[in-house]
Amino acid sequence: APAKSLNFIEHIIEEDLKNGFPKEKLRFRFPPEPNGYLHIGHASSICLNFGLGLDYNAPVNLRYDDTNPTKEEQEYVDAIKRDVEWLGFQWDTECYASDYFQQLYDWAVDLIKAGKAYVDSQTSEEMARQKGTPTEAGTNSPYRDRSVEENLRLFEGMKNGDFEEGTHVLRAKIDMASPNMLMRDPIMYRVLHKAHHRTNTDWCIYPMYDWTHGESDYIEQITHSLCTLEFLPHRELYDWFLDQVVDPDKIRPKQREFARRNLSHTVVSKRKLLRLVEDGIVNGWDDPRMPTISGLRRRGYTPESIRNFSDTIGIAKRENVVDVSLLEFHIREHRNKIDDRVMAVLNPVKLVITNYPEGEEEWLQAENNPEDESAGSREVPFSREIYIEREDFREQANRKFFRLKLGGEVRLKNAYIIKAESCTKDENGNIIEIQCTYDPKSKSGSGTEESLRKVKGTLHWVSIPHAVPAEVRLYDRLFTDATPDAHKDRDFMEFLNPDSLKFVTGYVEPSLSSAQPGDRFQFQRLGYFNVDLDSEPGKLVFNRTVTLRDTWAK
Ligand code: ATP
Ligand code: MG
Ligand code: MG
Repeated sequence: APAKSLNFIEHIIEEDLKNGFPKEKLRFRFPPEPNGYLHIGHASSICLNFGLGLDYNAPVNLRYDDTNPTKEEQEYVDAIKRDVEWLGFQWDTECYASDYFQQLYDWAVDLIKAGKAYVDSQTSEEMARQKGTPTEAGTNSPYRDRSVEENLRLFEGMKNGDFEEGTHVLRAKIDMASPNMLMRDPIMYRVLHKAHHRTNTDWCIYPMYDWTHGESDYIEQITHSLCTLEFLPHRELYDWFLDQVVDPDKIRPKQREFARRNLSHTVVSKRKLLRLVEDGIVNGWDDPRMPTISGLRRRGYTPESIRNFSDTIGIAKRENVVDVSLLEFHIREHRNKIDDRVMAVLNPVKLVITNYPEGEEEWLQAENNPEDESAGSREVPFSREIYIEREDFREQANRKFFRLKLGGEVRLKNAYIIKAESCTKDENGNIIEIQCTYDPKSKSGSGTEESLRKVKGTLHWVSIPHAVPAEVRLYDRLFTDATPDAHKDRDFMEFLNPDSLKFVTGYVEPSLSSAQPGDRFQFQRLGYFNVDLDSEPGKLVFNRTVTLRDTWAK
């Protein structure tokens, strides 16, 4: 049993084990529909299912719930695998509901023979009208009492492609008066003349989710089939379908539900995310602003940070919204441990050290990561002309301004103490150059008395002759509202943040000139950044993963 405190799903499993269920038979699955990319909500389900697999040393299947060819694509199948693997999990067997189409069909034929399924030839509107209401029984279809022979003939015709879409469906014959609307003769199959990404045109009938899911669990001998809360009312139907096929000597899967995980300031629904992609609001599923696993990866999130986030929030019995700042907390925490610190200036102003010899340079030692001694050190070039951040200088400022002001001193990180003497402005009054003097004896790490002298501020900087220009992409929340899709009469697209992406040209120290896509750094005093997929030698592109501190906190 797991050492950590148990969540309610684990309590259910523990109870089953106590009641004699053999531990070695436990088996779980993660069942995505390949109709989009996985998002941070799926990460909860992945961490739950694969976490149980690790805790109980049980296999976990990756099951594609691929029963709707109109929305599913191979691209999504591939992306899902990549993302689960990247998160650090290994599935036991890669399974596809479509591999069970023949078995499901055969079982459906058995149901027809047993008088428990029939072909309905009404329109969907007619069927909807007969459904009734939760308090009022529905009406039986006029086709409900078709003979077994006629049902078999029609169902075979459906399979053989003899009928147009919408002409016939196969329905389970359960109870049109059931208080559970889902039990009122649910549809098991519909005709769809669409090619499937795996079975191509082999089938022109496709099974519905409810008919497919439990039977797939049974075929794979999944013990605990965990799904989100909206499937709670489906559980009765899940069980009814299992009742029709389960062999008492085999494992009967159990459906149990947990709450869907929502994240603030975004949407976690493949359908809505697809709209952002299709409408060109973002540049694809892996746009760094997307809450998809691939977007987070491209943004510079680590698998550890996403797993830690998912483990921290755990699973719940009621729907909830987790603030995105908690996700940001976890990436800061991890990146603070692993990132090398480097210097980059994103809003540069030129600074000249007037008493530093012209044309000279020196290479200074810089520690890569104070959190990790093994990260070592590197050399950064220093010279007479450097860039600092424009915000780090003011002509005049009060005593709380610990950066550079005229007549004041600061330390340049890894370098010297400088004093601002004067500045030059253009005709509009914008500062275009700051003139400073430096104390040659104050070099960091030199051990001199001057090097140990305390000054209030430390600034990052980049030597101008050595600076490497880089495009830096600054991201902000995609939506201005915490719950953009929770407003009754408003579309979530109304809450898009028009400033979710800004491009700036910054300058980075030359050690970054050979940085590769995916490489991660802490830009000192600015935040965590990573090299974007668009980056090329000679044309660096960085993403800001997250700022150093939570700038949204009030
Ligand atoms: P979406 O609305 O985004 O398409 P879905 O539930 O239809 O979500 P599936 O591909 O069917 O997506 O999901 C695979 C598994 O992940 C299911 O077990 C589902 O319940 C779970 N899951 C999906 N979204 C979330 C979420 N936000 N929080 C927790 N689990 C989720
Ligand atoms: Mg689903
Ligand atoms: Mg869905």
